Amino acid sequence: MQLSLDQDVRYLKGVGPKMAKELNSLGVETVQDLLDYFPFRIEDFSQIKRIRDLNPGDEVTISGKVVSLSTMPGRRGPVLRAGVSDGSGICYLVWYNTPYMAKTIRRGMQIIASGKVEWRRQSWEMPHPLLQQSGENNGKGPILAVYHSKAGLSSSVISRIICDNLDPYLNLVEELLPPDIISRHGLMGQREAYENIHRPSSSAKWETARRTFAFREVFLQQMALLMMKKENEAIGPVPAFTRFSLPQVFVESLPFELTRAQAKTIEDIRQDLSSPRLMNRLIQGDVGSGKTVVAIWALLAAVNNGYQGALLAPTEILARQHYETLQELSGEYAKVGFLSGSLAASEKGEVLDRVAAGSIDILIGTHAMLEPYVKWSNLGLIVTDEQHRFGVKQRLNLSYGMQMPHVLVMSATPIPRSLALTIYGDLDISVIDELPHGSSKVQTKVLDYSDRKDAYAVLREEVQKGHQAYVVCPQISEGKSGRKSAEYVFEELSQGYLRGIEIGLAHGGMPKDLLAQQMQDFSQGLTKVLVATTVIEVGIDVPNATCMVIEGAESFGLATLHQLRGRIGRGGQQAFCFVIPSSEGTSSMARLKTFETVFDGFELAEIDLLQRGPGQFFGVRQHGMGNVNVQDLGITVDVIVKAREEARRVIEIIEEGKPSFEYGALVNEVRRRFGDLAQHARSR
Ligand code: ADP
Ligand code: MG
Repeated sequence: MQLSLDQDVRYLKGVGPKMAKELNSLGVETVQDLLDYFPFRIEDFSQIKRIRDLNPGDEVTISGKVVSLSTMPGRRGPVLRAGVSDGSGICYLVWYNTPYMAKTIRRGMQIIASGKVEWRRQSWEMPHPLLQQSGENNGKGPILAVYHSKAGLSSSVISRIICDNLDPYLNLVEELLPPDIISRHGLMGQREAYENIHRPSSSAKWETARRTFAFREVFLQQMALLMMKKENEAIGPVPAFTRFSLPQVFVESLPFELTRAQAKTIEDIRQDLSSPRLMNRLIQGDVGSGKTVVAIWALLAAVNNGYQGALLAPTEILARQHYETLQELSGEYAKVGFLSGSLAASEKGEVLDRVAAGSIDILIGTHAMLEPYVKWSNLGLIVTDEQHRFGVKQRLNLSYGMQMPHVLVMSATPIPRSLALTIYGDLDISVIDELPHGSSKVQTKVLDYSDRKDAYAVLREEVQKGHQAYVVCPQISEGKSGRKSAEYVFEELSQGYLRGIEIGLAHGGMPKDLLAQQMQDFSQGLTKVLVATTVIEVGIDVPNATCMVIEGAESFGLATLHQLRGRIGRGGQQAFCFVIPSSEGTSSMARLKTFETVFDGFELAEIDLLQRGPGQFFGVRQHGMGNVNVQDLGITVDVIVKAREEARRVIEIIEEGKPSFEYGALVNEVRRRFGDLAQHARSR
């Protein structure tokens, strides 16, 4: 068979249908996806530490002999403990509910283990370590790439699959970056980079490979944005909006005054719409800053000028909430409709007919309304809410196949100024930096894990007063650390601190309808406490919620914590937020402490940027980086600035039409990831 990078991973050496399924669940479908499944760190087995010299919280490698082995029943299945001695002390390797490990480890075995050590129950423990048997070296050298794994697919199995299959496919990898860029920035060619990210011969080479991919990702994204911007600029004049009386009447009908920041943003939008150029504007504003009213203003302006408006939301629940709000606030000024994938066929058909006939002025819905079967009568404006939940690709495709929509996107994620230009480089930006009710601050407290009962005592009290509360966890199921997982915490609370209280559980691993049901039950007050992952970050608005406990808090950036905190105290009452790292004395305590006193999302985002780098602002889904796990590439501001500069230069060279390098592969890759931008522009 002809080898190809588009080939299904199922047919690779050492991968069967079952393993292929596991890989698929990590987003890996093709050989290309597998190559782009980058390790997030490497383990240098040449650096071994004596047990005597360990410190709590260290990420280390130890080497010794297995001197004891025991399996005990635990709350969530058997717990396997293997004592390893190196002559200077003993460290216990611990596996929770991982039965197959018991078959792998034997007493007397020489072992090299690496992972994070903790001091617990008067002994050293290393939970779920990465193992290498002494003497086993697989020809891979002392450096091992470590991948995000899951139950049923360990990092070492992923590593083996990649290493066993790498060679024949490497030759198919095309160079994307021109040689002058590679040499100017000390990067590697693509083949060399793939080789060294997965099978590094030294940690320095691994770092360079990683920087190459970081550069590549930002560069491709910048190419897409700049191409998009050029094409937008090339679109001829559009009819300027001239009438704004309808939105004016709407604003006057509101039971409150607009804040200064809202009024300013509306003014920005008015100017965009009154000009003969298409609007492409981002509104950034904290949760609760009142973006919806601004969106309605813009939608009514479209209606006033004879166009239809669309409001796109990332989830069904949020779309429905918007639908209700719009009916209530603007129902008398415009005919409002709702569309989502879950509508019954007949209902959907009717909505589509009315949209086509122009008898719906404003359509609110999920991405179902971007499908080509939606025929608009005269779409003039499309507003996207919670933009950070969509990707650049979706954003670029927003108006695919539509005649002339102005575009307004709204986001509650504060992006540091220096990055806004990168991630939203093709957009104009308005910021709503003011909350309508002033800031009734959420009382925020960072607690040690051992003090978490105090948090749950307050939470109980709030529930007894008739309020509701959230408990947020960074993971769905146990994996390495039960303490951080929603399923574990849910069980634990149900039987412990919160016994007798109705608790719901919501996470992205549930079937969609079950998740929707759980959210619904909580919004209706049927459940008092919702244990959840960040799925609640958008798409749920319960003014009665006054308390939040965030478990495993060290896993979150401050900006995300801030988003989460914005979910409580929306009804104007005093609210309480507790932030709890999953282990004692964690190094992130100082970082978390800032969160007690800083309430400005932008300031928190800037601190995040300084402390954790910009990677976190490039979520995979959020910014359309294909299947590449960008957060693990260690993107730096320096890389961003340089990649942006180079992308600008390349676009210019291509435009001038005398490239010295064959840019075909590069342009194809941009199109593969971000859609056919040219076609996109033509169809507008
Ligand atoms: P977000 O920016 O998070 O989408 P919303 O648009 O949902 O915020 O607004 C939050 C709440 O504040 C809503 O109940 C809304 O009616 C109210 N609101 C919006 N603007 C004002 C204002 N200027 N004064 C008082 N309340 C306002
Ligand atoms: Mg909103």
